[in-house]
Amino acid sequence: MTVLLQIGRRPPEPAEGGRAAPAAGPPAACAEAKVFRSAQGAHLFVADGSRVYDLPEPVAARVERWTATPDASLPDLARELDLPLWSRPRIDGTPAEPPPLASLSLNVMQACNLSCGHCYADEGRFGGSARSMPRHTAHAAVDRLLAEAAPGADVVVGFMGGEPLLARDLVHDVVGYATRAGAAAGHPVRFSLTTNLTTVRPQDARLFAAHPFTVTVSLDGDRAGHDALRRAPGGASAYDRLRAGLEVLARHGRPRHLSARVSVTPHTGRLPDVLEHGIGLGFDEVGFAAVVSAPDPAYEITTRTFDGFLEQMVECGERALAELSAGRSYPFGNFLTAMQQLHRGTHRPYPCGAGAGYLSASAEGGLYACHRLVDDPAFAMGSVADGPDPQARRRHLAAGHVDRAEPCRSCWARYLCGGGCYHEVSRRGRPGCDYIRGWLAFCLRAYVELSQAAPEFFLPPPEPAATTAGATGLA
Ligand code: SF4
Ligand code: SF4
Repeated sequence: MTVLLQIGRRPPEPAEGGRAAPAAGPPAACAEAKVFRSAQGAHLFVADGSRVYDLPEPVAARVERWTATPDASLPDLARELDLPLWSRPRIDGTPAEPPPLASLSLNVMQACNLSCGHCYADEGRFGGSARSMPRHTAHAAVDRLLAEAAPGADVVVGFMGGEPLLARDLVHDVVGYATRAGAAAGHPVRFSLTTNLTTVRPQDARLFAAHPFTVTVSLDGDRAGHDALRRAPGGASAYDRLRAGLEVLARHGRPRHLSARVSVTPHTGRLPDVLEHGIGLGFDEVGFAAVVSAPDPAYEITTRTFDGFLEQMVECGERALAELSAGRSYPFGNFLTAMQQLHRGTHRPYPCGAGAGYLSASAEGGLYACHRLVDDPAFAMGSVADGPDPQARRRHLAAGHVDRAEPCRSCWARYLCGGGCYHEVSRRGRPGCDYIRGWLAFCLRAYVELSQAAPEFFLPPPEPAATTAGATGLA
């Protein structure tokens, strides 16, 4: 028998959505397994369960030839090469049932004080007029989240915009209300807030420090790079204001987790420099997200420009790999998320929890699949007043299952990628697939090398990791 050594200590996570398959024929071979090589030799990635094995080189060469045969099956290969691989698949094409709600974001202010050409949200207005969420709608949204959550489960209330701190009084009010209502209902409540940090005040910082908050700051580079993309009124520097905001947090209260998110456009500076800059500002994590859909196409990363994006992401990843291998921290969010997901054996038929455990409430109290899909009728999911619409959620989960989508069903990366952000796919299709596979192929190699160089990196953290960057560098 060929002995395979599985890398990673934990059994794969249960599939997020979908359900265990009946013993039906598996999909095409090239969608099931991928051979890759690292400094440690040859390895096999098995899509089902996102498992990674060491592979003797002669076997690797044969498996590579086999993966070129589109209709070969994993059981046939396992029998032929005597590989202990075949197991009942963990995901089939059966859509997930809508789970209990775990997270609801409130679009408390559908307006912004900056004017950014790459903003997906039309400065928070989502194509409509500027408006803020009434207090009674925000309280009703919190009540709805608590009513729809699994008994005793933690829930997350998110504050989005536009710029949510323009609705400062409401944010403070809702944090108090949700904390009290959650305690009464037996649900610990955590909070997240995404901000440009240009208007943060000492009382906001104290609020962030006093409650379990994850704060994500939009950062687009150094002063020149940030200000070129984020225009403040009257020609002021949005970057200077952001730096002043960081001072306010340092002096008056820092959230439990403070991350920076960089929206990458063709006009963004070199990513390794932007990453170093963000880390130098003291963020707990810095992550990238390519802008695939913007009101002005000049800000979009396209199929043509994804190659350069991949090159720079890998350069950042190599730097993270070197630092972490030497036992030093390096908070490159996309890399950390990918390492954690590979180690956990994360495999899922959806890109994210949008329309499943996560919904977003518009200022008027409409429910949508996520914060980017607010006011889009194709992703309407009920209302705060009447509750989530189960039929709309079922339809969404059926349509979005990665094994039902072309070309995803024949992609080896499908249970790590999940088929792409619904917002981007609905606007621009899937221009970034080669990038996603290239990045994940790098991450597989890096995972094996980091496991060897610094196994302690994968020891369980003292508390759940709070990374906010996606693994793929898309939304
Ligand atoms: S979106 Fe692209 S990379 Fe992701 S699963 Fe589909 S085909 Fe693969
Ligand atoms: S990945 Fe896309 S669809 Fe999913 S939550 Fe993020 S923005 Fe929304």
